[in-house]
Amino acid sequence: MNKSPFYICSLSGGKDSTAMLLRLLEENLPVDMILFCDTGLEFPDMYTHLDKLEKYIGRPIAKIKAEHSFDYYFSEIPIKRGNPEKFRALFGKDYNGYGWMGARMRWCTNRLKDRPREHFLRNLRKKYDIRQYVGIAADEKYRLERKNNQRSECIHPLVEWNMTEADCLQYCYERGFDWNGLYNRFKRVSCWLCPLQSLSELRKLWEFYPELWEKLRRYDEMTWRKYRADYSVKELEIRFAFENECLAKGLSIRNKVFLLL
Ligand code: SF4
Repeated sequence: MNKSPFYICSLSGGKDSTAMLLRLLEENLPVDMILFCDTGLEFPDMYTHLDKLEKYIGRPIAKIKAEHSFDYYFSEIPIKRGNPEKFRALFGKDYNGYGWMGARMRWCTNRLKDRPREHFLRNLRKKYDIRQYVGIAADEKYRLERKNNQRSECIHPLVEWNMTEADCLQYCYERGFDWNGLYNRFKRVSCWLCPLQSLSELRKLWEFYPELWEKLRRYDEMTWRKYRADYSVKELEIRFAFENECLAKGLSIRNKVFLLL
């Protein structure tokens, strides 16, 4: 059976996929659906941006979510420990949930993004020949090498248009999208609580988003797993406060090693 093509614009809400969507529509290229996978962990300014974008393009953005919330996977899902006694002895009590994600334990990507998206697309593929526009910028071609992005259904318009990350941001700014300054603070915008962010980005989160930082603290108290291999959330606070004191005295904080005793 010949299936008809169905064009999906994969939208993260960031500068690249936003620029891609805007240009696709401006050039009247086929877009049957705009798809956003909501982890529930976007910055509030990102959700405001998505509302604004929807109004601007005059079309709905299809929003899909995982079966359960981040909170459930983080601290509620029952986990069978290999050695429950040892776990209890180490951490003082039993904990449910996967806890903080790490470089080798990115359960969040799988549970909150890949699985719900694949589940959604699997159903559509039964009916249509899916073509997905993916917002990889021309200067991040290394991402094209990932298996996921090499699937024949993926199309990379930004690469074809030779639009770099900087071009994408400019393209969005010119059309009035500024994410309320998110990109003045962060080079990349993803889940606000991600432990895999750089220290400088976490510093900005601490400095400019105190409500989110307070939420981060509360999450940290709910799990046994350390936020990062090098710092807990409280230790980060100590570091950042100390750095601020140094800066106030005119001292440099670059390339300093911090020992928390
Ligand atoms: S940005 Fe961080 S928290 Fe969000 S899905 Fe990716 S690894 Fe997980």
